[in-house]
Amino acid sequence: MSIKITDWRFVAGDLRYKGFRLNSGFKTQTKIGKMFGKTAKEIGNVLRQLGLKIGKKPTEKAKRQGLVRSFRGWEGYIVDLWRVQSVVCFLNQLGMREISKEQQELNSIKEKFMVISKSLSECECSGTCAKCKIQEVIAKRQLKDIRTMRTILNNKGMV
Ligand SMILES: [Zn+2]
Repeated sequence: MSIKITDWRFVAGDLRYKGFRLNSGFKTQTKIGKMFGKTAKEIGNVLRQLGLKIGKKPTEKAKRQGLVRSFRGWEGYIVDLWRVQSVVCFLNQLGMREISKEQQELNSIKEKFMVISKSLSECECSGTCAKCKIQEVIAKRQLKDIRTMRTILNNKGMV
């Protein structure tokens, strides 16, 4: 079976082939960043330091070394995916260490909580509209999850 590049789609941080998720060994800066508790921007800065990126684009060097693959996302924009193994290796060499799955999960819940908190604070209804009421319920659950995750990490001596 020949796999054409045009049959690939990039959905929610994963590479898919005609609807099937594939473990490609390539991820976005955002996803690699999460493994280290860093932002996509911080990973981008490292890639620029290494001469693998200029501005927002991968360099010829990065392409030649097979460190990056560009795919067209659903909406037509180009998504650059980086070879996880290689980028992890570079980050390790710079003294950065991967964080635990539990810490990644905690960061992910915190991130979602921040989005909802922002939306709640920006609405002019003072917590009375239907959307805010739903979001408050979700935010309460997220806070509970954050406390639970912190307790787990504390008990494991990870915080
Ligand atoms: Zn509201």
